[in-house]
Amino acid sequence: MPNYAEKYARSLSDREGYWAEEAQLIEWQQQPQKILDYSRPPFSKWFTGGTTNLCHNAVDRWLKTQADAPALIYISTETGAQETYSYAQLHAEVNRTAALLQSLGVARGDRVLIYMPMIPQATFAMLACVRIGAIHSVVFGGFAAHSLATRIDDAEPKLIIAADAGSRAGKVVPYKGLLDEALALAKSPPQNVLLFDRKLAPMPMQAGRDVDWETLRAQHMNASVPCAWLESSEASYILYTSGTTGRPKGVQRDTGGYTVALAASMRDIFDGKPGETYFCTSDIGWVVGHSYIVYGPLLAGMATILYEGTPLRPDAGILWKIVQDHKVAVMFSAPTAIRVLKKQDPAYLNKYDLSSLKALFLAGEPLDEPTARWISEGLGRPIVDNYWQTETGWPILTYPMGVEECKPRFGSPGVPMAGFDVRILHERTGEELATGEKGVVAIVPPLPPGFMSTIWRDDARFVETYFRSIPGREVYSSFDWGIKEADGCHFILGRTDDVINVAGHRLGTREIEESISSHPAIAECAVVGVADPLKGQMPVGFAVVKDPAAIDTLAARLALEGDVMKTIDKQLGPIARPSRVYFVSVLPKTRSGKVLRRSIQAVCEGRDPGDLTTIEDPVALAQLKDVVAGK
Ligand code: AMP
Repeated sequence: MPNYAEKYARSLSDREGYWAEEAQLIEWQQQPQKILDYSRPPFSKWFTGGTTNLCHNAVDRWLKTQADAPALIYISTETGAQETYSYAQLHAEVNRTAALLQSLGVARGDRVLIYMPMIPQATFAMLACVRIGAIHSVVFGGFAAHSLATRIDDAEPKLIIAADAGSRAGKVVPYKGLLDEALALAKSPPQNVLLFDRKLAPMPMQAGRDVDWETLRAQHMNASVPCAWLESSEASYILYTSGTTGRPKGVQRDTGGYTVALAASMRDIFDGKPGETYFCTSDIGWVVGHSYIVYGPLLAGMATILYEGTPLRPDAGILWKIVQDHKVAVMFSAPTAIRVLKKQDPAYLNKYDLSSLKALFLAGEPLDEPTARWISEGLGRPIVDNYWQTETGWPILTYPMGVEECKPRFGSPGVPMAGFDVRILHERTGEELATGEKGVVAIVPPLPPGFMSTIWRDDARFVETYFRSIPGREVYSSFDWGIKEADGCHFILGRTDDVINVAGHRLGTREIEESISSHPAIAECAVVGVADPLKGQMPVGFAVVKDPAAIDTLAARLALEGDVMKTIDKQLGPIARPSRVYFVSVLPKTRSGKVLRRSIQAVCEGRDPGDLTTIEDPVALAQLKDVVAGK
């Protein structure tokens, strides 16, 4: 068994040989003809000529050896529901759903937008799409009408699948109304909407457009829908993510490369084995949910837990109770969840039998050392930070727990995974920096399997966005600052762009600014991410009103702030709501009109605002400081 250093070195020196072997982790209908086609840099095409199917590898494959083993365990502490589906039962449900999609005219290459809470039907829908070669695009349930409409217009789905409502912390979160609003805003809405009725909220059906899931499912109980054998590079899904423009990017993933990369990650990173249970607390609307609630664990023949609930209900021991009750071997969560638990009684960490748990993986945002130490000591298990992005599909940096015994270093997400040629580069010169020096985390292409293949329908934007920001070098920029230390461990030090990270979720400040500016009383605004002890960062807004008389009393200011918040909730969803929107008479800008977001952020965090030689009006920053201080 080669150790990590040997494996990693070979993954770069003999890419094709390395991945040709890894390709055998999955089943192919037709073996790949070429392992890597890099004839059009920086686009990497993996396993070309090979045909396979993600659903076959995640579900059908296991029918031969473990049809009756649990595949999907659904637990909702919101509704009290608990359901277990064996591989055979999951297979049957996915076949029914696939038949149902076909009956609504969905065919290979069509997009299907999934806007659903954490219910088994969401998983059936994803698997059914990839089974027939339809491309799913899951939109997180926390996004509201405007965000949803933007994604509908970009993906142009043939069908939307939704439900009446979700539930969060005991409160019903209605989906159907938001969806109807989004459909009214969308330029080319689909003909049909398939709706699953949980009976949590009213679900008025629009005749001729809306179709009831259960009614249709009943017609396909014995359905058997063969897997479509896709060429490796055909798209499996699109997942939208925020960037520095107001327009979200459709991250497009292939089929063969993603399947192989996830299968390899399950073995090398998570050390997950068939028959074991995997528990990831993310949401299917995020990349972590795609890779490690749905596809990764099933590709490894594990049982995966789909959890609808918070870490605190019915009490702060719920996550550990789930670990005990389902003998969870591998768990994956986010630092925010652990920071939430840190404020609760630590006795919960010892209340349940956690002997089945091999390690707890955390990702999505910086994992601060005190939090890592607290949970590691509390659980007595390895805590494994891992760093990645929607774009990368699986961890860039972490500790390969399945390759060799690792002792993760607190505060560091570790070392590069196979195929990721990670470098720390100077942001202006592109020169490679010495160990210990802070620079941009970049990846030298060819990018490994599983990485996004392009931006949906926009190859030029893919190249322009990711490969043109570091002068003189056609390398992928992560837009994160980082440092590599002498032992090979990396540290991630925040974003280089205007993207912020709230509780592990990426938000573009531009999207929030556009929403605030759409309020009729607002002339212009700026949004920055400000350090938050619980969520890592929170957006904070600064707005200039068109008519100062609109905010001449405290009551008027508070009323307008509340109204602006409502606009954001309605357009983007509560997830994008800033902690405050302050009113100022002028925004700090350079003489060329660029808003000094970094200086605003520094003021909000009580830091030195930095070089202000280019500021147009120094009073602007002083005023901003006073407003934040409540003067
Ligand atoms: P997303 O694509 O929404 O998953 O967000 C990716 C971004 O989250 C990265 O570019 C980082 O800024 C941040 N991130 C993810 N994982 C980590 C981690 N383990 N440590 C520090 N930052 C992280």
